[in-house]
Amino acid sequence: MAKVVFEHVYKKFPNGVVAVNDFNLEIKDKEFVVLVGPSGCGKTTSLRCVAGLEEASSGNIYIGDTLVNDVAPKDRDIAMVFQNYALYPHMDVYNNMAFGLKLRKFPKAEIDRRVKEAAKILGIENLLDRRPKALSGGQRQRVALGRAIVREPKVFLMDEPLSNLDAKLRVQMRAELQKLHNRLQTTVIYVTHDQIEAMTMGDRIVVMKDGVIQQVGRPLDIYDHPNNVFVAGFIGTPPMNFLEGVLRKENDRFYVDFGTFKIYVPEGKFRTANMYVDKEVIFGIRPENISELADTPNANPEDVVTATVDVSELIGSETYLWVSNGPHSFTARVDAHTKAADGDQTQLVFNTQKIHLFDKETEKAIP
Ligand code: ATP
Repeated sequence: MAKVVFEHVYKKFPNGVVAVNDFNLEIKDKEFVVLVGPSGCGKTTSLRCVAGLEEASSGNIYIGDTLVNDVAPKDRDIAMVFQNYALYPHMDVYNNMAFGLKLRKFPKAEIDRRVKEAAKILGIENLLDRRPKALSGGQRQRVALGRAIVREPKVFLMDEPLSNLDAKLRVQMRAELQKLHNRLQTTVIYVTHDQIEAMTMGDRIVVMKDGVIQQVGRPLDIYDHPNNVFVAGFIGTPPMNFLEGVLRKENDRFYVDFGTFKIYVPEGKFRTANMYVDKEVIFGIRPENISELADTPNANPEDVVTATVDVSELIGSETYLWVSNGPHSFTARVDAHTKAADGDQTQLVFNTQKIHLFDKETEKAIP
């Protein structure tokens, strides 16, 4: 069993920075968990606490059933893959992968078996006698993974391992890492600031901000049901639109009054809506939940908003319309073949089943 448990982990650096604040999480055996959040939110520090490279100021960390607070990094049965994978330039690929095992005095035959097996899994068998400088970036990253795999650790810790690769290779390695995880069936804790990596790779993702866990869940649950404005805005590209309005009730129906237009809330969508009547709220809707009327022939006229196209941005498979209505600006993700051009008036349909409301003061989702 190689679950990893954080219990009230707190880390304050001598300069007073609280990098990790009451971190509680149980990562299951074989689970692929991604810690994601903006730069400086404490992802790397959390990972380094598991590795033993950083000592928590308080709290407990367990690997399997062992409390590892006082266990030396080398005895924690983990392997770490960094963004900067620093291979030994004077050693060939075989020896780069074998080095850690040699240091640990593994028998030669066992080292050979493990290196060859890892090379096979990673598809780098034909590169074993090359030096790092004769490898592409993706191949080097594979060697770095190989170095971790030969250790046969209980847990892989990965800190932005793909961020030095170009965009195309990153997408390819993303899929390869998932295949690798399926094959090795080892617990992985993966750190990234890239929400797309988090969404595509994690069995579960942990969204962090300022050292505090904001939400833990399966990617789609977090996407569909963000806890607060931060999570809603961080996950998804282009990000969710946030519009400020006032929740009103009229003839038993709720609507959000934006001054220049209003949007009706589907019946029963927010069970606590009554508590917010006549209060300011933050209204959220993702760009893909706003369509053009021309593409939505059966739209309810109540859900249609007229807006001015500020910029129409064709990205190939679709077009982003950056639009405004009075003081409100928002983005719609529409068909690539839209006729809307900069400066046009367009009729947009809000899919009200997909809207979110947040408390303006706490920024928490209104249930
Ligand atoms: P990034 O994506 O930029 O790597 P991160 O989310 O991994 O960011 P951490 O590296 O964990 O964040 O840093 C969290 C906070 O702790 C930051 O404010 C950082 O400046 C601070 N910090 C990190 N290491 C130290 C240190 N050794 N001494 C003092 N402060 C530190």
